[in-house]
Amino acid sequence: MVTSKPHAALIASPGMGHLIPMVELGKRLLTHHSFHVTIFVVTTDSAITTSHILQQTSNLNIVLVPPIDVSHKLPPNPPLAARILLTMLDSIPFVHSSILSTKLPPPSALIVDMFGFAAFPMARDLGMLIYVYFATSAWFSAVTVYVPAMDKKMIESHAENHEPLVILGCEAVRFDDTLEPFLSPIGEMYQGYLTAAKEIVTADGILMNTWQDLEPAATKAVREDGILGRFTKAEVYSVGPLVRTVEKKPEAAVLSWLDGQPAESVVYVSFGSGGTMSEVQMREVALGLELSQQRFVWVVRPPCEGDASGSFFEVSNGGDVALNYLPEGFVKRTEAVGVVVPMWAPQAEILGHPATGGFVTHCGWNSVLESVLNGVPMVAWPLYAEQKMNAFMLSEELGVAVRVAEEGGVVRREQVAELVRRVMVDEEGFGMRKKVKELKVSGEKALSKVGSSHHWLCQMSKDCEAHVQGSEAKVSSAYTTTTAVLSDVVRS
Ligand code: UDP
Repeated sequence: MVTSKPHAALIASPGMGHLIPMVELGKRLLTHHSFHVTIFVVTTDSAITTSHILQQTSNLNIVLVPPIDVSHKLPPNPPLAARILLTMLDSIPFVHSSILSTKLPPPSALIVDMFGFAAFPMARDLGMLIYVYFATSAWFSAVTVYVPAMDKKMIESHAENHEPLVILGCEAVRFDDTLEPFLSPIGEMYQGYLTAAKEIVTADGILMNTWQDLEPAATKAVREDGILGRFTKAEVYSVGPLVRTVEKKPEAAVLSWLDGQPAESVVYVSFGSGGTMSEVQMREVALGLELSQQRFVWVVRPPCEGDASGSFFEVSNGGDVALNYLPEGFVKRTEAVGVVVPMWAPQAEILGHPATGGFVTHCGWNSVLESVLNGVPMVAWPLYAEQKMNAFMLSEELGVAVRVAEEGGVVRREQVAELVRRVMVDEEGFGMRKKVKELKVSGEKALSKVGSSHHWLCQMSKDCEAHVQGSEAKVSSAYTTTTAVLSDVVRS
């Protein structure tokens, strides 16, 4: 029988940290699993349309959803998640009409991230399989799958008495590492998270950007009916680590500078696509780097008071203004050993450069995976979302990072310097580097032809092919029946 190549429609929600893993998943489905792939890019920032991320996507059908502004529908200072969810909701009519008018075969699978459940009704109407792609850990995915079934008393006692959240089959979540929605179980954020989780568990499949050997317990817990698997009808597949692959090295002064530095001698400092800090904190980072006496590359953003995700929607704004907030004379004093890059740096290329030997990171999952796959140990400095859970995993479980201790607010320069030195020059750092290089090998193996993640994507691809054949069979049997009825009518 001729098998039809399945077509997957992927929707990336706003934010580089959401777009990048969706694009990588799309590339993988296209190149290793013979899918047709369309990626709908939902954005609030028109600058993303010219981003180099989208210029390295040969053969992917990229559809840019016209930028959507939902600010008039939101209260002042809305939570990040609320803004993303509303933007996704408003993008559905455009996505729907684009799918109906596609010249490719109709998509048989919809893949969204955890903010994309607004598209489920559309997908069901169109007879598509629905997959949710958690571009993060199996541990976070486990918490989400479990939320609708969690004991209410445990959630309350977590918020009030700081008891840990016990997650079946997984590490418990300590209060210090908790997710914002759990801080107030009667608050809007918790209700929003619960609503999303209730929808997500109805999907046909859950994909996670992790691999079995990195998180054996959590992967097993979400998959198995005897543990958390019974709380979702979805098949669960760990398909990572999918990270940004560099097709063509960009021209960048920072990369030329790195070319001139000794191996593993530079610490890279970056807080993701959205991370921002207060002016006082920025100053302490600067002085801490100076105190550490290590070579560095630092991505700086204008400070933002009271919002750790201040540049999430506007990575392109601000430019050189950020430099005005650095301590007087800092750039001049450090020019022989450091480079400050305003707003955005070619991170995948920097982490892949032989001169890079450490990474001060906010622990966004893409950054974590990029660091691991380049064998770079970390200083974990989590800011928002599930980053504290990621920091716990890296420092306490995997032993590939040292973690910042936030004792009531500002992290002082002495601590910054000490942590950087522990990773870059201390004995402890060599141990972490060894461990992270082992994880790199394990991640690469998972993606190889004999690896667990390759296996799961093959399985998913077979499910999609079977779905296409099932739909074609339904159409052709409906056609045969109709033709038979018609010929009966003609004969009589
Ligand atoms: N990134 C980059 N240059 C920057 C900052 C971020 O290329 O200056 C990329 C980074 O390589 C990663 C993504 O943006 O792929 C950020 O995702 P992550 O999950 O680490 O954090 P988020 O931005 O979602 O908090």
